[in-house]
Parts: sequence; structure tokens; C-alpha cells
Amino acid sequence: MPYPTRPAPPNGPGTCPRCDEAVIWCITTANKVPIAVDPDRDPRGNQAVHQDRTGRWIARQLTKDRATPEGAEALYVPHVVTCPVARATADRTRAAARRRTTSRATTGVRPVRWQW
Ligand SMILES: [Zn+2]
Repeated sequence: MPYPTRPAPPNGPGTCPRCDEAVIWCITTANKVPIAVDPDRDPRGNQAVHQDRTGRWIARQLTKDRATPEGAEALYVPHVVTCPVARATADRTRAAARRRTTSRATTGVRPVRWQW
């Protein structure tokens, strides 16, 4: 084959590339992108997951119109919610944003006075 084949996106039981914990890789119905969910079912989750006839794991984000799991779907929590590495990154990002906001508040540009 002249061209290297692109590796298939992960699907099914696997591990998180960031924290190496067990996850289940699914494909979203909306955008066909891989999403990792925690391996245990959780009724608080917002991902309705099922396997199609070929064994692929499919995740459907609950919506207002379809707010409950249907058919063979079961609820799972997106792994990014519980991933310790993702959380640490988010905390750092939030802290940096807070610092930026604070410094802008103390040294920021004086607002232009509103004139009619
Ligand atoms: Zn993780």
C-alpha cells in the first residue's frame, strides 16, 4: 500500500491517554468524534451509550428533546469529568485566567467615559 493508513480511532474498552485509567472509547452520534467515558454505568451521566450491531460503542449526548436513555442505551459519565489529569489542567487554566483578570483589574486600561 503506497500510503500509510491512519490508525482507526479508539473504540471500546481502553485507557485514558492522560491518566491511564480504564475508560470506554465511544463515537459520538453528533460529530462522530471519539469520547472517553468512565467504564462504570452511572445514572448521573449525560452520555447515553450503546453498542451497535458491529460492536462499535456509540455515545449520544442527552438533550432536552431526548433526555432519557432509549432502547439498549445506558448512562455513563464522560471521563473528562473525573480524569485527575484533565482536572489539574483545568484548575491551572482557571488559576491563570484568575491571575490575568486580577492584574487587569489593578493595572488595566482606564475605561473611556461614556459621552452622548
Ligand atoms: Zn484520564
